Amino acid sequence: MIYSGKLINLNAGPAALPDQVLQQAAEAVLNFEHTGMSVLSIPHRGVHFNKILEESKALVKELCWLDDDYEVLWMHGGGRLQFAMIPMNFLGEHGTAGYIDSGNWSADAIRHASFYGNVEVLTSTKKHGYQLLPEWPEHISADLAYVHMTSNNTIYGTQWDEIPRVDAPLIVDMSSDIFSRAMNYTNCSLFYAVAQKNIGPAGATLVVVRKDMLQRIQRNLPPMLNYNEHVAEKSVLNTPPVFPIYVSLLMLRWIKSRGIAAIEEENRRKAALLYDEIDRNPLFSTSVKKEDRSMMNICFRAVDERTGEMFNDFCTETGIVNIKGHRSTGGFRASLYNAVSLEDVKYVVAAMQEFETTNK
Ligand code: PMP
Repeated sequence: MIYSGKLINLNAGPAALPDQVLQQAAEAVLNFEHTGMSVLSIPHRGVHFNKILEESKALVKELCWLDDDYEVLWMHGGGRLQFAMIPMNFLGEHGTAGYIDSGNWSADAIRHASFYGNVEVLTSTKKHGYQLLPEWPEHISADLAYVHMTSNNTIYGTQWDEIPRVDAPLIVDMSSDIFSRAMNYTNCSLFYAVAQKNIGPAGATLVVVRKDMLQRIQRNLPPMLNYNEHVAEKSVLNTPPVFPIYVSLLMLRWIKSRGIAAIEEENRRKAALLYDEIDRNPLFSTSVKKEDRSMMNICFRAVDERTGEMFNDFCTETGIVNIKGHRSTGGFRASLYNAVSLEDVKYVVAAMQEFETTNK
């Protein structure tokens, strides 16, 4: 294989960003929009950052087809803080929240919720090692404080086709597939996503909440942990992660310029190409159920440990990096977020084919 020198980074997050976005971000670090200031040093309550905030929030609404019923927030603390804030805000001491347990991140969200109230696991595939999605529950009570689900399971490589409609308020962790395809965002009362996969760099978390949900806040909470306070202060309750939000804005512009429909089509082609190779190549396989396979995180294994080690070395030599599976599962995981191109995936497939030829 001829390795051109450009690395193909398949990390699950912090994920690869498009060259164009990196270039713009680098320029802004030196001189932000000809102001003579670095974007790292602009005041967070000043006119420049206010414009960044306003444009980024408007773009999120536009890309999710949302109207003014929704508030867009940029927050700190990653997915884990949302796992805690959701029950803190919406689960009263005597209430019950329903959780769909489809992977490690869902399970961690459940663990966090159990500190604050009753949790009902509505359905789970834990006993199947999360290699498939659970059956959607036949009945979900409208009396639940909320229902929480994870749209894409980053570690196990399964993904729900749709965001369903439920009678209780629906909260969705979209950390690893937001903006990768058309989704029914309006079925959600709240959705959130860490930036470091499809939105931008680590350090910012996007939270989108329907205004009626904000009236359901149950507890007296310190301001930093209360969604209402973040809404009232328009995401500048304290010093926000200015640079990650700025780079996220550059990504949102990039996503808009490509269009969600075109991005989705390419993501489908990328995933199909790689799954076809995994299914065909005798050196690799996946145990993820076919109908439930993720377009974003493609998990697979080599036939045996030795072949796996050799393939990992071969990837490093050919410029394919961060393809190892999560530490809890082992094997391989190719994360094909939006910034990974169809050409990149073709290169990975060609590498798998060459590895097969030389290791028969
Ligand atoms: N939810 C999902 C679906 C994730 O993939 C991750 C991280 N990979 C998280 C939550 C946790 O995010 P953080 O590390 O920012 O807490």
